[in-house]
Amino acid sequence: MNYQQYYPVDVVNGPGTRATLFVSGCEHQCRGCYNQSTWDVRSGHLFDKAMEDNIIADLLDTRIVRRGLSLSGGDPLLPANLEGILALVKRVKAECPGKDIWLWTGYVWNELSDEQRAVLEYVDVLVDGKFEQNLADPSLPYRGSSNQVIRFL
Ligand code: SF4
Repeated sequence: MNYQQYYPVDVVNGPGTRATLFVSGCEHQCRGCYNQSTWDVRSGHLFDKAMEDNIIADLLDTRIVRRGLSLSGGDPLLPANLEGILALVKRVKAECPGKDIWLWTGYVWNELSDEQRAVLEYVDVLVDGKFEQNLADPSLPYRGSSNQVIRFL
């Protein structure tokens, strides 16, 4: 898995102070996508063990308390990303008790594969659905268009 950006302290992508990872790779090609540079699964940087350790350490940091981890992109549920994302969310839940995980995907909840659903066992909140430009609404919290749904799992 590759990633585009990592924000160790973020107050925009999800509630509270968080760490946020933007992974590489997305196949949805939404019109008006603000993040087209993330579409290529080979773009960005390799998400390696050191980066995973870095995120765990940030979530355990008591100087700046993070409420949890946000996973966006790109698409964390792109099939090519599932192995890396599953390993990460398992580690967060095992090693960072009390931290929540929010995940944004362009896939729709009721169309997810078994492999994608396996990731959701470790996710607290899913925001699903493609960005639809004709339904865009900047006043919506944590989503770009009104077709997208915030699901508390
Ligand atoms: S799902 Fe997100 S990253 Fe992918 S094309 Fe749509 S808006 Fe862009």
